[in-house]
Amino acid sequence: MPLPTALCVYCGSSAGKHPDYAEQARAFGAEMARRGIALVYGGGNVGLMGIVADAVLAGGGKVVGVIPRQLVEREVAHQGLSELVVVDTMHQRKTRMYELSDAFVALPGGFGTMDEMFEMLTWAQLGLHRYPCAFLDVRGYYAQLRAMMDHMVAEGFVQAGQRDRLWFGDSIAALFDWMASYEGGHAARVIDPASIKA
Ligand code: AMP
Repeated sequence: MPLPTALCVYCGSSAGKHPDYAEQARAFGAEMARRGIALVYGGGNVGLMGIVADAVLAGGGKVVGVIPRQLVEREVAHQGLSELVVVDTMHQRKTRMYELSDAFVALPGGFGTMDEMFEMLTWAQLGLHRYPCAFLDVRGYYAQLRAMMDHMVAEGFVQAGQRDRLWFGDSIAALFDWMASYEGGHAARVIDPASIKA
């Protein structure tokens, strides 16, 4: 597929202890801007979230933030974005970020990052979308998660095909090369997830 026009980045509302995390978040945002890919993210000005957004903006790129009203203060809603969408709930935030994006990348982050990224993985697994999903593995941060996913496959809880469609790596250039060669990214929003009720 051609490179995404809007890439959703999930990442920490903290910056992590080692400076490499911030450095790679900055490099990732700069590369997005260089390639003309818009950023969709959680709209905060804290942690890696703020760093990625600032890097895309500094490179002249477009940034859309989606933030729930109750987090505007806690995550210090970024006031310099191309667009800040304020929604009512966390669920609306995740849905809106999904609707605006055609690829998903997790940089290092905590529970919030995992929650958001795993929702995209489970929606892909259910066939609701076919967008590329990648983990940027700064400082081996995701090595144990990757091993856990392999373990899930080995033990028969995740299909190998689902695991294999995910990309893990530490090279930003390789990540974009992988996305450019990713098969099946178009006709991607197969079913509107909102129409699926348990
Ligand atoms: P964290 O990775 O925990 O630092 O959080 C990163 C981002 O995920 C922040 O913008 C959080 O507000 C957001 N987040 C936290 N919990 C959730 C959740 N349950 N659903 C959606 N986003 C969340």
